[in-house]
Amino acid sequence: MSLYDPERRRNDPAARVGMALLRLAQAVKKLSLAEAEEQGLTPVQAQALLFIRHTKPFLASVGRLAAELGTTHATAIGVVDGLIRRGLVTREPSPFDRRVTLLRLTPDGEAVCRNLDRLGRTLADALGRLDADDLRSLERNLGALVWSLREMGALQVSEPCRGCVHFRENAAPGAAEPHHCALIDRYLSEADSRLACPDFTPIALAGRDRPDDTK
Ligand code: SF4
Repeated sequence: MSLYDPERRRNDPAARVGMALLRLAQAVKKLSLAEAEEQGLTPVQAQALLFIRHTKPFLASVGRLAAELGTTHATAIGVVDGLIRRGLVTREPSPFDRRVTLLRLTPDGEAVCRNLDRLGRTLADALGRLDADDLRSLERNLGALVWSLREMGALQVSEPCRGCVHFRENAAPGAAEPHHCALIDRYLSEADSRLACPDFTPIALAGRDRPDDTK
């Protein structure tokens, strides 16, 4: 029975929550469209630019972008091509693996991204109307749902290093790249550690089965 069925929602709290989330998704889609259009972009183009801006440079690949957008590799290439034609993005082979193409913002792309910092402001305003306790409870419960969807392979969740099970903070004190990632066996600068990573694994989830999303 569908979540859209009012009879099911009357008897099933999970269906009511599911329907509320579908309605939220509709609202977010509509708001994203309007906010991206202000910059002359589609929501997917805006999402791609923000992904490139906030992801660690050595992980900002077309493959990772496809996972972030929830699209195929071919579709992600189409999005990137459009941004390259507009002079907002360039691509280059990864110095670590020539088969991987990394994405970079041009100065024009950086400028557009600065304007995109206001993306999501309407949603932030709506959340600002909730009181602190409701907000904390929402954060806890939605967070659990997000990680559950990630474990099911439905979502890519990128976060900075702190709080990740693979992060070794200050493993090489005094070095230019003092931190270490045990997953990729690589040292990281403070700046890189603060950028998002699609392989972030919260300490609380360590040891639990999860899909192979390291590609
Ligand atoms: S896997 Fe964890 S520690 Fe390694 S780069 Fe990603 S977030 Fe940082």
